[in-house]
Amino acid sequence: MRTRNGDPAESKGFTRHLPQKLFSFHMLKKKPPVLRHFLSLVSRRANHLARQQYDVIVVGGGHAGTEAAAAAARVGAETLLVTQKINTIGALSCNPSLGGVGKGQLVREVDALDGLCGQAGDWAGIHFSILNRRKGPAVWGPRAQLDRQRYREFIQSELLSTPRLTVLEGSVEELLVTEPDTAEPGHHRVTGIRLVNGSHPISASSVILTTGTFLSGSLFMGQTTSPGGRIGDAPSSAGLSHTLRERLGLRTGRLRTGTPPRIVKDSVDLSLAQIHPADSHPTPFSFLNKHTRCKPEEQLPCYLTSTTPGVERVVRESLHLNHHIHEDTKGPRYCPSIESRVLRFPGRSHQVWLEPEGVTSDLLYPQGLSMTMPPDMQLRLIREIPALHRAEIYTPGYGVQYDFVCPTQLSPALQVKSTQGLFLAGQINGTTGYEEAAAQGLWAGVNAARCALDLPPLALSRTESYIGVLVDDLVSRGVTEPYRMFTSRAEFRTSLRPDNADLRLTLKGFEEVGCVSPLRYQEAVRVRDSLQDALAALQTLTLSTHKWRQKLPDVCISENKNTTLSGVELLQYNDASFEMLASAFPESLSAYLEFSQRLKIEAVYKPHCDMQRKEIERIQKEESMSLPQDIDYLSLPVSLSQEVREILDRVRPSTLGAATRLQGITPAAVVNLLRYVRNTEQKERRTHRNQPHRKEEREEEPCARKASLPQ
Ligand SMILES: Cc1cc2nc3c(=O)[nH]c(=O)nc-3n(C[C@H](O)[C@H](O)[C@H](O)COP(=O)(O)OP(=O)(O)OC[C@H]3O[C@@H](n4cnc5c(N)ncnc54)[C@H](O)[C@@H]3O)c2cc1C
Repeated sequence: MRTRNGDPAESKGFTRHLPQKLFSFHMLKKKPPVLRHFLSLVSRRANHLARQQYDVIVVGGGHAGTEAAAAAARVGAETLLVTQKINTIGALSCNPSLGGVGKGQLVREVDALDGLCGQAGDWAGIHFSILNRRKGPAVWGPRAQLDRQRYREFIQSELLSTPRLTVLEGSVEELLVTEPDTAEPGHHRVTGIRLVNGSHPISASSVILTTGTFLSGSLFMGQTTSPGGRIGDAPSSAGLSHTLRERLGLRTGRLRTGTPPRIVKDSVDLSLAQIHPADSHPTPFSFLNKHTRCKPEEQLPCYLTSTTPGVERVVRESLHLNHHIHEDTKGPRYCPSIESRVLRFPGRSHQVWLEPEGVTSDLLYPQGLSMTMPPDMQLRLIREIPALHRAEIYTPGYGVQYDFVCPTQLSPALQVKSTQGLFLAGQINGTTGYEEAAAQGLWAGVNAARCALDLPPLALSRTESYIGVLVDDLVSRGVTEPYRMFTSRAEFRTSLRPDNADLRLTLKGFEEVGCVSPLRYQEAVRVRDSLQDALAALQTLTLSTHKWRQKLPDVCISENKNTTLSGVELLQYNDASFEMLASAFPESLSAYLEFSQRLKIEAVYKPHCDMQRKEIERIQKEESMSLPQDIDYLSLPVSLSQEVREILDRVRPSTLGAATRLQGITPAAVVNLLRYVRNTEQKERRTHRNQPHRKEEREEEPCARKASLPQ
């Protein structure tokens, strides 16, 4: 086994030039300062901080923390990001890749709200591909293999040059909260943090915890267990877990994940693996980028190989030496270790992807070979795979177990219900994956800033975004295993497409949320207006099928059809493209050629989306029906089983929609609840009409409060 300087998890020496902000359509041109110098300028010691009071403090500089800090600052809050090591900000703990099916949608949405990860992916990507291409564009999964170092450099550069954001290297020991409220026992308010080494407290109106896999983290390799949040990094301090559990009384659980060994590229016989080139035209993640930094021809390939019966044999022989695999803790079902795969599906061959770790990296990442057996057995195992028969391991695989906070204790703004000003985001909420963490981080950052600035909290609905689906799933259903995003989780996925995230979120992000820059907003308005104009032009192009056949002989329009078709309807034919229409009608359509693909997708999904829009409107009306927070579910005079009553009483969903998605809540229970809320509302209205002059008296009625709806 070889060791070298520049461990992917611990690399410290940055000598490359950094990007400046990517707020243009083209990639960066100006040479920014060298990172090490940059870090020394912006990192601060706690007692050198310009202020000891911030609007928002973010704890942890992983994928959730970086988006949270940047979003809070964009909304206008004076923000402090405290993280254990500045040089691990933006570190990719596991696979150097971004996006994928479901996850790519999240990246596009984070980008649409002016987050960082999409642009960082465009800067650091070295192999771009759209997954699921055989299915419709709604469920395509934009994905990129990344250069680890470039990704980290980009995120650090962006954060360290964000106005209103200070970055502090340090470990948070304690969360400062008020004593419980006597009027509302068990309710606290966050007031700030204290760092390890007993420094002065730093105050804030809002604190966001994004401690990832570090909360009471333990690392596993073979029979060895050691405290840690990630290889080379100490776990989060015990004081933080203590505050969450003992002082705030939050319910926590334990989950696990793992990572494969990194393999020395030169030692692999790639001729024995199947080459997988990248897409010939890389698709950027960011709506602001027309190109990726990596040119199409510079992209690196991935390779596919598979396990042999020898792999299964080594797994079985090493089971007694593998502590991690014997633990009851739940691991990621959709990204399981090789041990779990082999034990769950014996006798099968399993895919292994060999993926580059960076442009100049000597290492390969073997996706599918996450393992926690002793290092010598890891070497034996990988050498059972023909392409890896002489492979050398650079760093062995390992597992991590960590605490998470049961997310049903959070509001849709990701705020802890019982602690004003405390927000949680990322793996601490039981999710897995960079994209899930980034999406929550952004949303927690927005709401923490709004809370600090005395603005009302905001929620994204599951009818408008994958971020809404993610947050709603977490806060209303909770997790029993590491949660990852899939397109199947989104009921309205044909409307929530990766291509239209800007139209769904950028305008709202600027006009209502306040986290989007004017530049991005102007671009989204230009795109929206152009698409609307182009669709209107297509709609007015109405010809008989006979005429269409003459104009576009290459499109297979049925001979039997003797009706008229609009340009939009014609675009719905598989073999019709917007370019064809633009060449037939250049005067009305050629101005929109830059949107060819988007127009084709819009046209194809139009009938379905029109139907879905009506459905969404109906659901939104009922979904958004508020449920009073003080409703007494245990004695509510409606037909509900005791089990349903207890679930509702424990979770206290804020809307009917949230109640619908709770595990254990039956459709019949929802209907009864809906009827009850509607009846109460009607009664309220009747009482109000009949007693117009007794407003003060009515407000004082003690039991009216229980059954009434917030106005
Ligand atoms: C070994 C391993 C394997 C993984 N495998 C997979 C996988 O196969 N698939 C997958 O999707 N995901 C995997 N992940 C998970 C992925 O890394 C996370 O989902 C993602 O990084 C979560 O982002 P986060 O921001 O929540 O936390 P992290 O990225 O873990 O960041 C947490 C940050 O908080 C900081 N921090 C912690 N405590 C404190 C404190 N008290 N004070 C200050 N700073 C603190 C840490 O230094 C760190 O910067 C794996 C992670 C690990 C460690």
